[in-house]
Amino acid sequence: MLKTKEVWSARREGLITYLRDFKRFYDPLGVDEMDTWQEIVWALMNCLDVFLQKQANFFIEGFANGQLESHPNFSPESTLNIIIDQIGFDIEIMEKIARQRGTKFNKFLTEVDCLVWKALDLAIAHKLLEQKPIILTYFQKSTSIRVIPYAPIILVGIPYSCIHNERDLLAIPHEVGHYVYRLGKHNNQSLFAWAASMIETANNASEVIPSWAENWIEEIFADVYGALTAGLVMALDFQDLQKRRTLEQFYKDDGEHPTPLLRPFIYQNTLLAVDPNNETQWMEKLNQDWLAHLSLRKSDLEDLDEEWAIGLRGESDKFETYERKLKTVTEAITTGGEIKESQKPIDYIVKSILNDLLPAKTYGNWAPNFKDETTNDLESLPDHEILHQELEALYLAFVKWYESEKEDRACTDNIATLKWREADTQLKLNDNPVGHNIGHTGLPMDEVRNRLETLSNNKTIPAKGKGEGWLLVLDAGGWTVKGPDCEATGGVCAG
Ligand SMILES: [Zn+2]
Repeated sequence: MLKTKEVWSARREGLITYLRDFKRFYDPLGVDEMDTWQEIVWALMNCLDVFLQKQANFFIEGFANGQLESHPNFSPESTLNIIIDQIGFDIEIMEKIARQRGTKFNKFLTEVDCLVWKALDLAIAHKLLEQKPIILTYFQKSTSIRVIPYAPIILVGIPYSCIHNERDLLAIPHEVGHYVYRLGKHNNQSLFAWAASMIETANNASEVIPSWAENWIEEIFADVYGALTAGLVMALDFQDLQKRRTLEQFYKDDGEHPTPLLRPFIYQNTLLAVDPNNETQWMEKLNQDWLAHLSLRKSDLEDLDEEWAIGLRGESDKFETYERKLKTVTEAITTGGEIKESQKPIDYIVKSILNDLLPAKTYGNWAPNFKDETTNDLESLPDHEILHQELEALYLAFVKWYESEKEDRACTDNIATLKWREADTQLKLNDNPVGHNIGHTGLPMDEVRNRLETLSNNKTIPAKGKGEGWLLVLDAGGWTVKGPDCEATGGVCAG
């Protein structure tokens, strides 16, 4: 039972008041004068307004009148805290989008929308998604993707650094992979259901996929998706990303991401599995670069006097699972080269993704073709420096490709003329709380109405027992999986 109903109701009212005041900023603009992004933000705010009330009321009233039972891990107070946090996070994103799109950076962000659009091609080609969502990118401290249950819109945060450092845009295909994993379907089943039966098959005879590897499936999918989308330069970028981890992060499992020392092999093996002969030279260079980095880490490990590091000394080809067990790299994955047998857990997962979900014949449609890339005369440099310069050529080619793609207006036109913009503009949401005709924006009201109805229908029959039923409502298709800023409270985070 919730004894503090009034306090939580006041918190809800605070959010509603703020959101509606923020919405008024757009009100006088009128339909004809709105840019596309303004129409989208306007509709998004209206959808959040409806959702906010439904979601908050369901839980506040439900806990207060005893209709919802407490869950051992999610007390009424902690559940309501999650909702208030997530709604605040979404309002913050909308404010960021509105502020940033009203500046000269709108052009840059629209070009990035286009990159996200293209990164969704692979999912459409393999029928994991039926259609592409609307895309809104915005700047924030780091890359993340936000799955929202109340509108068919994908919100993609990109780091401010992208403005001058285009290679930071390479996190996009991996993030799009998360979106596909969460909302995609395979044979009319969610990818979560696919993963569950894949694990069951794998573990039927012997335990091929232990729990530490099971925890990494979504991230492995996003890695495979990223590799197939952007190819070699993506493999290089993720390799470099792992070099940024601290030594402790490098060797210890966080219970969600493949441990950094293993991760580049996922990219290398995926690309080789799709095309064992092509680009071999580049693959060897990537492998060589990573093995050199592993030996640097190894000597750091010998030097560090912290307890966990001492435990791993002399075992630098091992990592520590979240259950604090030591496993060797080669037990988990093939380290460079074609996957020959699938008794290694990560190999098995990668192979299953490639066989069932993404049976790609080629990779790298999102990035340039690197076959012709050559580097300048490097013979006077030491070996490791030559390798570094050669790999840099991949980034340089990516930036060149990105610059030339920017001129491709066809993609941004596509975004602006999505079919749902033609939806019935007269539709109204019956319970539109502020009396606005949110349909006037031309957004897909059918779609929005369906989503809200699904949510409210679910809510009429909370399951008995300790919250197992309403946990699904709380999760709202992944909305509350993580908190804002990827910490206690939002979004699927980069990495
Ligand atoms: Zn990720």
